[in-house]
Amino acid sequence: MNRKLSSHVTSQRFSVIRDMVARAKAYDNVISLSIGEPDFDTPAFVCEAAMEDTLKGYTHYAASNGDPELRAALLKDICAKTGLPCEGKNLLVTTGAMHGLLAVMRTLLEEGDEVLCPAPCFSDYAGHCGLAGGKLVQVPTKMEEGFQPTRAALEACLSQKSRVLLINSPCNPSGVVLTPETLDMLADFAKAHDLVVVSDEVYDSITFGRKAESIVTRPGMFERTVVLNSFSKAFAMTGWRVGYAYGPEWIMGEMVKVLSYSVASTSTAGQRAALYALTGPQGEFEAMREAYRRRTALVAERLNAMPGVRSLAPEGTFYLFPHIEAAEADSFAFALDLLDKEQLVVVPGFPFGPEESVKGCIRIACTVDEEKLTEAMDRLERYLKAHCA
Ligand code: PMP
Repeated sequence: MNRKLSSHVTSQRFSVIRDMVARAKAYDNVISLSIGEPDFDTPAFVCEAAMEDTLKGYTHYAASNGDPELRAALLKDICAKTGLPCEGKNLLVTTGAMHGLLAVMRTLLEEGDEVLCPAPCFSDYAGHCGLAGGKLVQVPTKMEEGFQPTRAALEACLSQKSRVLLINSPCNPSGVVLTPETLDMLADFAKAHDLVVVSDEVYDSITFGRKAESIVTRPGMFERTVVLNSFSKAFAMTGWRVGYAYGPEWIMGEMVKVLSYSVASTSTAGQRAALYALTGPQGEFEAMREAYRRRTALVAERLNAMPGVRSLAPEGTFYLFPHIEAAEADSFAFALDLLDKEQLVVVPGFPFGPEESVKGCIRIACTVDEEKLTEAMDRLERYLKAHCA
């Protein structure tokens, strides 16, 4: 029997984040700071409204481009946020931003095309590019420069095959918000080398100081940018699987085919829930963001007080990406030993970028309450004292 499989699939590695979660199952009394998922449940008013709609018959396929009412609400929101003339032909509802990422890469890339992405970056991007026949090229950034990409580093990674610039602000795993100057530089760079920009903005509403601007608002960028967003993080709706993508018609008009052939349409109940989350009272969502602000501040302060540990000031998301001297030799071994000795789960830095950017770093997701985070920091401190002094 010929067991040959697609190398586009077999060459992908399994998620290190999910691997850490699976390993933690062997231990009791675990505190997990690993998975990038809000610990808050979706607010009851959203669930109730969506359930009522299912009882009214919202149980059928939706249009491939999305539920008309959700699309209208999203267009209003996007136009208000960006001031851009975003119309129906520019917008698609996707099954989470994961689906948006795969669909946009499938639409943009030919075999062997390269996607430049400032790193540290979301570890799953390699899979989205690879499954579409392309290749993720991680552009190194430095913690000492606040993980902001430089033009020189981008130019050094360019090749004849470069087709897409993929950015993510606020960033998973670093929590960094790209500065207005960096966005200007990235927009210039993309135009100079005729790249399409994919801007993953799933954390755009979770910022603690400076707001996250979008590159799509820079002059001439609407024509060459696809923005991806999602209800997962901002509205605590990971399991509903609803996201969206907007961009120029020449891309979106083709990308809808990928949605149509892959999922037919995003879950109708999920889209109804998203509609109510977007248009309903925002108080509960604001309280979640405030909790992430308090939690990341608490953890950054604790980390920076530990010898041999440095963390940037939190700017957005619920992640921190501290550098730990004791993890320099091998961040995976460090994370495994920390789990073994203290039952604390973190994600080693290596899947998020090249050595020079992520050496000694770990990712911490502040997705447990402050009491648990305090206990987690106590455990980390005790571990460092006992095993790394
Ligand atoms: N982009 C980034 C940067 C993420 O962290 C995630 C989730 N971890 C996603 C996209 C995908 O989110 P979803 O599919 O739930 O919308």
